[in-house]
Amino acid sequence: MNPTHILVATFPGQGHINPSLQLAKRLVKMGIEVTFMTSVFARKRMANATTEDSPKRLTFVEFSDGYDDGLKPCDDGKRYMEEMKTNGIEALKNIILASSKRDHPVTCLVYSHLFAWAAEVAREVHVPSALLWIEPAAVLDIYYYYFNGYGGDIDKCSNEIQLPKLPLLSKNDIPIFLLPSTPERFRLVVKEKLDVLDAETKPKVLVNSFDELEKDALRAIEKYELIGVGPLIPSGFLGGEDLSDKSYGGDIFKLSENNYIEWLDSKPESSVVYVSFGSMFVLPKTQMEQIAKGLLDCGRPFLWVIRENEHDGNNEDDQKWSHFEELERIGKIVRWCSQLEVLSHPSLGCFLTHCGWNSVMESIVFGVPVVAFPQGFDQPTNAKLIEDVWKTGIRVHKNEDSGIVEGDEIMKCIEKTMDDGEKSQEWRNNANKWKGLAREAMGENGSSNKNLMYFLKELGHV
Ligand code: UDP
Repeated sequence: MNPTHILVATFPGQGHINPSLQLAKRLVKMGIEVTFMTSVFARKRMANATTEDSPKRLTFVEFSDGYDDGLKPCDDGKRYMEEMKTNGIEALKNIILASSKRDHPVTCLVYSHLFAWAAEVAREVHVPSALLWIEPAAVLDIYYYYFNGYGGDIDKCSNEIQLPKLPLLSKNDIPIFLLPSTPERFRLVVKEKLDVLDAETKPKVLVNSFDELEKDALRAIEKYELIGVGPLIPSGFLGGEDLSDKSYGGDIFKLSENNYIEWLDSKPESSVVYVSFGSMFVLPKTQMEQIAKGLLDCGRPFLWVIRENEHDGNNEDDQKWSHFEELERIGKIVRWCSQLEVLSHPSLGCFLTHCGWNSVMESIVFGVPVVAFPQGFDQPTNAKLIEDVWKTGIRVHKNEDSGIVEGDEIMKCIEKTMDDGEKSQEWRNNANKWKGLAREAMGENGSSNKNLMYFLKELGHV
């Protein structure tokens, strides 16, 4: 039998690369040979961060998705995904077939969830595959239920809906792709992912979550085997053996040269509000202005990530924000930061986040209370879990007429999280509890570590 060699194929988004690369590194630490495949653009941007400390058994391969200089705002997203698929299928086949002619053929494919087509390639070349699910198990459950008996109920959901093994959901908690107002083609993207899984008997899904966090959700779909292997965070932050391992190692955005850590060092314990909307979302300028207003009204120190492209005007326009100078007086604005370093900093008080799943997992690992400000995809469901299931924070509410979350609401939610009231105490205590459980899960005898070993054993790895 050939030694285990896992090919990890990843969509070139920051939220995909971070957990996939962590999984790859964990597998390498367990003695597995891993090849990591992503696009030329992502690899070029990651290169500086990964070459030096990459373990020997981790090899990177890149493929051209047709956008080697990255996706531009004027590019057509649908066409981008189609070209990614056509080029990706060919590249993947070539990599697997080439490896079969060498000493170490690929024995398993792990693909991140916008690469559903990768599973079909694996089947064609007779290599087992597993999906790496980088959203909560609960979201996969909702998708599954939607296409397996509950679609009508979810479509009709005007008040609340009870799905098996999940908390009571309102319309505001449903993943955006399933909302009737979302174009049909997005539901088809979800369906494609499930169809690929349904083509297998008991398909394996590695989930960036852990048993204690999503006990029921991880067991909700009998037809699939959901395996909690998270949080997929560098081991140095989880009290692992290698305490120097403190970076994802795959930033595709330029690191901020700004001295934000020194700035954090100068702030009292638990005093800073960290604001970030992840690596993709672009907020309307009116919304940015309201966030600015909320932060100014709080008057607390804040660190706000505003990416270069994160505004709906040009750079000059950006600078013309009202209150811009005032903002820079009490807070710090950076283009990008090491979010892990920021969230683990003692001065951190709360995290105003769009609830991308990596950001949520990171808030859990560092025990940081959350002000949830969901935008798209799975984020409304993630916000529901934060507020009502794990109870580590509060969700903002938008003005139904304008569709904007007003500064006043943002200020109130931040204050409720940062003050000394009963609620903020409860959220802080819960955040600490989950922090402990997340670390336990990744420990040597923890559930996620054992689950990953089980996965490898099932692949025939001894
Ligand atoms: N991130 C970072 N620095 C930033 C903003 C984000 O390192 O300034 C990282 C963050 O730690 C997370 C990822 O980028 O791992 C964003 O993933 P998430 O799922 O939270 O959101 P997405 O970008 O996919 O919407």
